[in-house]
Amino acid sequence: MHKVLIIGAGGVGSVVAHKAAMVPEVFGEITLASRTLTKCEDIAKAVKQRTGRDIATAKVDADNSDETAALIKQTGASLLINVALPYQDLNLMDACLKAGINYLDTANYEPRDVAKFEYSWQWAYQEKFMQAGLSALLGSGFDPGVTNVFTAWALKHHFDEIHTLDIIDVNGGNHGKAFATNFNPEINIREVTAECRHYEDGKFVETPPMSMHQTFTCPDGVGSYEIYRMYHEELESLVKHIPTIRRAQFWMSFSPNYLKHIEVLQNVGMTRIDEVEYQGQKIVPLQFLKAVLPNPGDLGQSTKGRTCIGNIIAGIKDGKPRAIYIYNICDHEACFAEVGSQAISYTTGVPTMIGAKQMLTGGWDKPGVWNVEQNDPDRFMADLNSYGLPWQLIELTSAHAAGLCVVQ
Ligand code: NDP
Repeated sequence: MHKVLIIGAGGVGSVVAHKAAMVPEVFGEITLASRTLTKCEDIAKAVKQRTGRDIATAKVDADNSDETAALIKQTGASLLINVALPYQDLNLMDACLKAGINYLDTANYEPRDVAKFEYSWQWAYQEKFMQAGLSALLGSGFDPGVTNVFTAWALKHHFDEIHTLDIIDVNGGNHGKAFATNFNPEINIREVTAECRHYEDGKFVETPPMSMHQTFTCPDGVGSYEIYRMYHEELESLVKHIPTIRRAQFWMSFSPNYLKHIEVLQNVGMTRIDEVEYQGQKIVPLQFLKAVLPNPGDLGQSTKGRTCIGNIIAGIKDGKPRAIYIYNICDHEACFAEVGSQAISYTTGVPTMIGAKQMLTGGWDKPGVWNVEQNDPDRFMADLNSYGLPWQLIELTSAHAAGLCVVQ
């Protein structure tokens, strides 16, 4: 029985709180803390209704590491689960070091004033966590998270060497709104408007955002979608930790409607992250845009359809070429029926709970700072099947893998 402190009461925080409450043999006492106390209280009520369990709530400013360290000590937690925003990562790692507990997150650190995300800032904490005998697990959502575990598991069981990796994230769901993002709008729009980077022949290559795309047909009748190559943070850690990878790319589906809205918002300056003067005050246009867009946590009610996220992996096994596709399909309405959230929050929050479970009971707590693929993937893969994200594997020919074709 362990005590955990979840920071962030958004779409993902709600799923983590629900799923942790459903595993009382591991998560003995749960505290949910965030900037807005009422959001924590609403989630606690929903968790009580669905699971019968009481979870504690607290107000905290995660930008203040002393305040957070004091809260950690007050709760007696041994693990902090960070599902606030990437801006808080370093402060929350500092708070864990001050209070002497382990740390887990789902997205790598990003400075507020530069739309740039990379692991260097968090990897720099390696010595501090080692010396304190504490563990930090980085990127335990779906992508990053499950996609890293899929790759580590494929390497352990199906390949001697992995040569190419294509991570494909399709959201075949429809929320019925004119425009909305599936997770925090500020973080989502910063991500999709960034320069594309993919890894090829030992280095990252930059191309203009959304300049490379193709049609991808998902298995099990999820449908065909246009997928766009973009940069995603797990590429950085995976090519570092699996150095035989020669090319790694990340693809995400976007509807023409979503792209049209993004283009217009960019053209009129609403995606800017620098401050502008407005009626005597300074505002950041992208933060203002977030305030007027639908809250992703509220999209569950209206979202229908399925997500399909997985990896096409090619390489060699026993001297012969080998290629596979490992994927999960998740139904938005089924997620809403279970925990009151749409599938994007669900596919992130479930692996967050599973990563926390590995840290608390599965040996994933060695001192230092780790990406998920640096741990043994087997129990995590088994837990995905047990806790709501079952996965499948399809054998591919090398030609089909190269063409991103998984349905023959
Ligand atoms: P939301 O915006 O819905 O929730 C973020 C929460 O963090 C809000 O409750 C917010 O409080 C709280 N918060 C923000 N700043 C602070 C602060 N200074 N102190 C305390 N609390 C704060 O985001 P999501 O739930 O959609 O996403 C959560 C995280 O998950 C993000 O980092 C996102 O990048 C990551 N993510 C990872 C994915 C993966 O697969 N790896 C996929 C999707 C998301 P308030 O309510 O007051 O604003």
